[in-house]
Formats: sequence, C-alpha cells, structure tokens
Amino acid sequence: MLIVMKRDSTPEEIQAVVDKIESLGMKAQPIPGGMRTSICVLFNKGAVDPSPFLSMPGVRDAIVVSKPYKLVSRETSPQNTVIEVGKVRIGGEKLTVIAGPCAVESHERLLQTAKAVKSAGADILRGGAFKPRTSPYSFQGLGEEGLKLLARVREETGLPFVSEAVDHEVCDLVEEYADMIQIGARNMQNYSLLRRAGRAGKPILLKRGMSATYEEWLMAAEYIMAEGNREVVLCERGVRTFADHLRNTLDLSVVPFVRRITHLPVLVDPSHGGGNRDLVLPLTYGAVGVGAQGLIIEVHHDPERALSDGPQSLFPEQFADLMKRLPKLVEAIRT
Ligand code: PEP
Ligand code: MN
Repeated sequence: MLIVMKRDSTPEEIQAVVDKIESLGMKAQPIPGGMRTSICVLFNKGAVDPSPFLSMPGVRDAIVVSKPYKLVSRETSPQNTVIEVGKVRIGGEKLTVIAGPCAVESHERLLQTAKAVKSAGADILRGGAFKPRTSPYSFQGLGEEGLKLLARVREETGLPFVSEAVDHEVCDLVEEYADMIQIGARNMQNYSLLRRAGRAGKPILLKRGMSATYEEWLMAAEYIMAEGNREVVLCERGVRTFADHLRNTLDLSVVPFVRRITHLPVLVDPSHGGGNRDLVLPLTYGAVGVGAQGLIIEVHHDPERALSDGPQSLFPEQFADLMKRLPKLVEAIRT
C-alpha cells in the first residue's frame, strides 16, 4: 500500500501516518517526491485496510501496490530516479559511462588506464580490489591496497570510482573508500549482503545474477531499498542460456522491459555480456538502442597481460573510438 499525502501536508501529518503504520506492526518508508510525499507500507502480512489512513489529516489517497516489489516500482515513484555518484548523474539525460580495468593490479597500471578512459570521456572509473573468481588459484585482487590505489587515482584524475563488495567485511571497506559499491552477479541473491548494502551511505550498482529472472533482480533491489538505501542502479551483464558460443547471453530485451516497471536507472555491461572485446562495440550499439542509461566497460592498457578478464578488455584506443561514436548513436536513437 502507498499512502499519498496532499501537496500541502505538514511534516507532523506525515509523521502521524508513519507512526500509525508502525503502531500496526508494519514499517513505513516515506518517499519524498517533486510534488508530494508518499509513504510506502512495508512488511505487511496480507492486504492492508486503507480506511484508518484515509481519514487522517493530510492524506489524499491510499493505493494498493499490485507487485511484490514496491519501492523499486514505478507505481510508487513514477519519475525516473537520478542517482548521483560524486558529481556524475546516472539516469538523467546524459548516458553515463563507467570504464576501467576488471581488477586493480598496480598504481602505475591503474593510473595509465584511468587517464586513458578519462581523456576518452568516461565519467566513473571501475576496478575490482576484491575479485570473485571461479578458481581459488586465480588472482583474487589486491584487497584493501587496491581500494587505496583507487582512492589515490581518484585524487590524481578526479574520477569517482566503483568497486565490488563480495561480503560484509569487504562492504565496510568499499563503503569507506569508494563512491559507489558494486554487488556482483554472483552475489545478487546474497540477502544478508543486500541488507548490508541497504544500510550503506553510498549508491549501489546491482548486477543481475547470471540466472536471475527480472523479478528476482528487482526483488534484490527491493532488499537494498527496504533497508533505506534508495540509491540503486541496475546493471544487465548477461545471463546463462543454452547458447554456449559466448561467455554469456546479453539479455538486451530485459532493458526496455524492466525500465517500464522500475524507476531505477538501468545500465548494460557489454564486456561481461559477450566476454570478447570484438563484441563490445556492437553490444554497446544494441544497449544504447534498447534504452540503457549507461554502460560499464572493461578497459586495460595492456589486455594481453591483464590479471583478470583480458580477452574482453578493450585497448584504450578501442575505447576512445567507442566513445567517439556514442554521441551520434544517442542522437540517432532519440530523434
Ligand atoms: C566485474 O564487474 O568484474 C564482475 C565480476 O562482474 P559480474 O559480477 O557481472 O560477473
Ligand atoms: Mn571482470
């Protein structure tokens, strides 16, 4: 249920509705809007009777939210949500580009790639300090040292950065250093980590699990938002299907589909989506074509020697070429 307040409702009237919801054993989450505040009723067991609310001062309406996801739904917040990472806006008019190496390897390598992606026009730097690798013998990331290097490179380039949190302990560290916290595909249904992310004071980049339905993905975002963090960005990064010619099957049709349902920004990762650098440009065309509001792209100054995901990492020149092509593409889609 969504309690919609009148435009001129007072903070006291809003608080009275919150108190009423909580006195009935449910949780209230006020959603301030451009025009008016709405209050979302969460953790209700069964249907909520609207009548006690409709008679309260300042209340305009009580709307039943038909979907299991409430806070992520456009029924609750009809306007597109814009999320700020440093000075960068995700979900606004401009396409947001996040780029950088899969993993942080050293200061020198990170700085080299960061300078290259910045001069090509990237908005945010990416880099894993804690890597979720299939094999325990593969490079696992530099850990906290990697986060320190990312913070140093942020000072040197001015680029805010996103880095992945693979568990609670790491989430504490990533929250301390990073501008945005990534929850990776393998952890999309790690509900205790999602709750922890919901208590973080930083925006969350939530990647779709590799075999998650759209509803499971949105419910994962709901976990984060139900804890109070409203800054969630969704990212399609390819799913597992019967098609095994590529690392993953990039599910482009999910982008316009979920954008109709949710107000949260939706990005696409064409690097993990195809697992091959030659596919990054065509998949980017597709992603922008279906309405992705941004991209996250792996770039490495020396991909042949990258410690993680080299085959799908673009050379800096390829990334610069892609960035040059983007404005025309966006214009073609929007006209
Ligand atoms: C990554 O971004 O490097 C990564 C591991 O992504 P995903 O969780 O989508 O596999
Ligand atoms: Mn990677």
